[in-house]
Amino acid sequence: MIMKYIFVTGGVMSGLGKGITAASIGRLLVDMGYKVVPIKIDPYINIDAGTMNPFQHGEVYVLKDGTEVDLDLGHYERFIGIELTGEHNITTGKIYRNVIEKERKGEYLGQTVQIIPHVTDEIKSWIRRVAEKSGADICLVEIGGTVGDIEGMPFLEAIRQMKNEEKEEDFMLVHVTLVPLDKGGEQKTKPTQHSVKELRSIGLQPDVIVGRCVEKLRPETKKKISLFCDVPVEAVISDEDTDEIYEVPLKFKEEGLDRYLLKRLKLEKKEERTEWAEMVRRLKELKEEVTIAVVGKYTHVRDSYISIREALKHGGIEAECKVKILWIESEELEKRDEIEIDADGILVPGGFGKRGAEGKIKAIQYARENDIPFLGICFGFQLAVIEFARNVIGWEDANSSELAETDHPVIDLLPEQRKIDALGGTMRLGEIEVTLVPGTMAHKLYGKEKIYERHRHRYEVNPEYKDDLEKHGLVISGYSDNGRRVEIIEYPKNRFYLGTQFHPEFKSRPYAPSPPFVGFVKAALEFKRQRL
Ligand code: GLN
Repeated sequence: MIMKYIFVTGGVMSGLGKGITAASIGRLLVDMGYKVVPIKIDPYINIDAGTMNPFQHGEVYVLKDGTEVDLDLGHYERFIGIELTGEHNITTGKIYRNVIEKERKGEYLGQTVQIIPHVTDEIKSWIRRVAEKSGADICLVEIGGTVGDIEGMPFLEAIRQMKNEEKEEDFMLVHVTLVPLDKGGEQKTKPTQHSVKELRSIGLQPDVIVGRCVEKLRPETKKKISLFCDVPVEAVISDEDTDEIYEVPLKFKEEGLDRYLLKRLKLEKKEERTEWAEMVRRLKELKEEVTIAVVGKYTHVRDSYISIREALKHGGIEAECKVKILWIESEELEKRDEIEIDADGILVPGGFGKRGAEGKIKAIQYARENDIPFLGICFGFQLAVIEFARNVIGWEDANSSELAETDHPVIDLLPEQRKIDALGGTMRLGEIEVTLVPGTMAHKLYGKEKIYERHRHRYEVNPEYKDDLEKHGLVISGYSDNGRRVEIIEYPKNRFYLGTQFHPEFKSRPYAPSPPFVGFVKAALEFKRQRL
């Protein structure tokens, strides 16, 4: 095992796609036969992303162990093809919590506890611990935020120290910046120069500069960046806008980043893996297209449903069609008496709270009554049970106790969740075993009886109503907790109607798509062909 560190920082502005850059570097290394372990540093003071609003922060991604993290960890899992846990996400909150706990236990032996060395030591030992434990060759660490942010300073200082502690060929820094165009179409390098200056002022010098630009960097732009920022021309890499994020590793390869990484880290290519390139080729060759309506609450925030969007794309690769997403704001549906959704499939994703919930229920009713392929995930699954109870069984007041008080709480808290909530509350999180009922659609899709999927919810199908639901034709095809909790519903009367209490999107990979998504997209494609 060799342990090398690649740090990825960002300059100029946030939202440059640093996470995708880091994930793509990871993919390049995997393709050359190396084992990579990623770490994301989020310099905010929150312990984790669990309490963060998708409006502000994009999707909350859930790891196998139940940690709620930044969506970049989703990119890492999808690009690098690994499963991560909470220790792969460092936040200021976690670092300070450890330092304060040590201080209270007297571990600092009476010293004054300071950012340097105590906080920086904690950061370095966290990174090294995770790296060593992983058995990987290369540890890839992305620092969230922008160089110069006050929150990021202790992390950059820790990295500066590591640079001196590691051998030259075991440490490298990739800096991602913006190269804007001026009115005349000239590629401007000044923002990059300034942000590198900022890095240097804290003792860090980039080894590679990735320039985000709407187009490829021109040779003279690269030369200028090389000269002013003191990196070889071959280490100035274009990161031009692309519609397909999975192409980024391939574009980096065209730019020679793979070769430069090997050279700088003094490594040899061990293998030449091609499955990523093949996947991208398949994706780009897709001709037929299906339209999936996603009915949600934050549909105008591009990042709030990233994993859903990606999982649909993965399903499309398998079903051999492009998936176009029609984003529908559920509150808009609420305002209308009659609704019409022109799509080949309707997906209602996870969510919380009252706002927009009735609009989602309308969309589910529309899908059920018109036999349009339907996939409900978590909140979408719960609302499907409510819709069924209201409009098929006839309990007009059926609801979730999250949303209203009712005589028919078909979605409710289980007694133990009530206890947890009384203590301050947490959700049922992470990977949990689900048992599928032989002969059901879910069983056919997965092709096995035991599956492991990630959860993030508090409410459940109320066990008291299971029999009523089944009597009216809803099939419960997946259970957990020894049959006590309902995990999957389906409605065999329709061509495709599936709801899952868990979030299958978090385990979907471009080369290993999630079965419910594959089934759903295939059904949508068939439906589309019939409609024509
Ligand atoms: N709000 C629902 C619950 O807490 C669903 C959560 C979700 O969709 N992630 O159970």
